[in-house]
Amino acid sequence: MPQLTIVVPAYNESAVLVLFHQRLSKMLDGLPLESSVLYVDDGSRDDTWSIIESLIASDSRTGALKLSRNFGKEAALTAGLDAVITGAAVVIDADLQDPPELIPALVEQWQAGYDVVYATRSARDGESSFKRFTAAAFYRSMERLSDTAIPRDTGDFRLLSRRALDALGQLRERQRFMKGLFSWIGYRQTSVHYLREPRQAGTTKWNYWRLAQLAIEGITSFSTAPLRLATWVGLASAGLAFVYGMLVLVKSLFYGDPVRGYPTLMLVILFLGGVQLLALGVIGEYLGRNYAESKQRPLYFIDELRLPHDLR
Ligand code: UDP
Ligand code: MG
Repeated sequence: MPQLTIVVPAYNESAVLVLFHQRLSKMLDGLPLESSVLYVDDGSRDDTWSIIESLIASDSRTGALKLSRNFGKEAALTAGLDAVITGAAVVIDADLQDPPELIPALVEQWQAGYDVVYATRSARDGESSFKRFTAAAFYRSMERLSDTAIPRDTGDFRLLSRRALDALGQLRERQRFMKGLFSWIGYRQTSVHYLREPRQAGTTKWNYWRLAQLAIEGITSFSTAPLRLATWVGLASAGLAFVYGMLVLVKSLFYGDPVRGYPTLMLVILFLGGVQLLALGVIGEYLGRNYAESKQRPLYFIDELRLPHDLR
């Protein structure tokens, strides 16, 4: 019975998967633990699944599951982690941006008694300065907005102990911001630093549109500050409108009311209209999330399941 499972989500990773498995198994061979590898094919359109099948054939500790379509990385991770029955699991990207050679360091902390050991990047090589800037801005604002502390510069690369896995398995929300969920569960958490390498082959699945969506996901799942913001902006503009209204009243009482003021009228109407739309948008954002949650749909479907040899 293996003690450690390495969960690897893969979506269209045929260009890098063989290289990844080589580096991973080299590391696992040196690890004084029984371990298995679990690939999650997130509905890839290239030959990722056939490559995984050949890896399973050549390496008995390898298993995989294939989702019925592309559900996105967060769901793929959930599917993989749900299938883990060992004492701990490591989550790692297939593109070699997370170095498999760091896993022994994660394991060491786990054996020292930590439940969540996350890997924190100390450099982001091969990423544009714009991406670095937006990522930094995101982590800083999350820190201010959210009640759950989400560690900076930390991706999904981490180790989870059995009880952390069990806790995570109970969080079935549909809007899954994994980085947030990982820290929300609590327990003893610690970090290990590493250098983030550039992607070895293939292309990133994240464009700025998807990243922006992920950022909104993160903020709205872990903070209700935007709802409060709508309230404050509404209150402030109502207050300002009241003061301005008094001014206009007093002025017209003393000086009469010459027909002017079209610009101010427009200004006030447009401003209040804008504030109302903003508030409606914020409410709509949360309402939409509530709607998606209330449908209680399963998070993923498994198409094929190949367990590693020693788990069969
Ligand atoms: N991934 C996935 N499903 C998706 C998108 C990505 O399983 O819909 C996997 C991908 O194969 C990789 C990991 O998630 O192993 C990280 O993806 P990527 O490298 O594209 O993200 P980045 O490192 O640029 O944040
Ligand atoms: Mg990557």
